[in-house]
Amino acid sequence: MHELAVAKRIARVVVDCARQNRAAGVTDIYLRIGALRGITGEWVRRYFVYASRGTVAEGALLHIDRVPGSVICRCGAVTPLEPGHLDDVACRECGGTELRLWSGREFTLVGIGVREKGGLENERHPID
Ligand SMILES: [Zn+2]
Repeated sequence: MHELAVAKRIARVVVDCARQNRAAGVTDIYLRIGALRGITGEWVRRYFVYASRGTVAEGALLHIDRVPGSVICRCGAVTPLEPGHLDDVACRECGGTELRLWSGREFTLVGIGVREKGGLENERHPID
């Protein structure tokens, strides 16, 4: 499953990030996912529960910002893409069809919210 691989990747990156920042836990994860990615937010959330089990990211809340698809024309105008109408799209300003993808393929981990370790819990990290 595509979403499972995605959820595992998110979990790995978030756990690494939390470790580097010596966080006690991850509370929130902010993602930006383009509409053309074919990724269902609901399934990413479900698989993330599984992928993050037993890690510092377990129980973190996923906030998914969906970015709609759009194309840009040679004239500079940006035209939104309607789902299911990707083949017959033309510029809404000039009707041109020489279009480049402008948005909708994003897949970005925007940020994470962490719970810091309490004073007594601080681990000592030896310096290499
Ligand atoms: Zn145009």
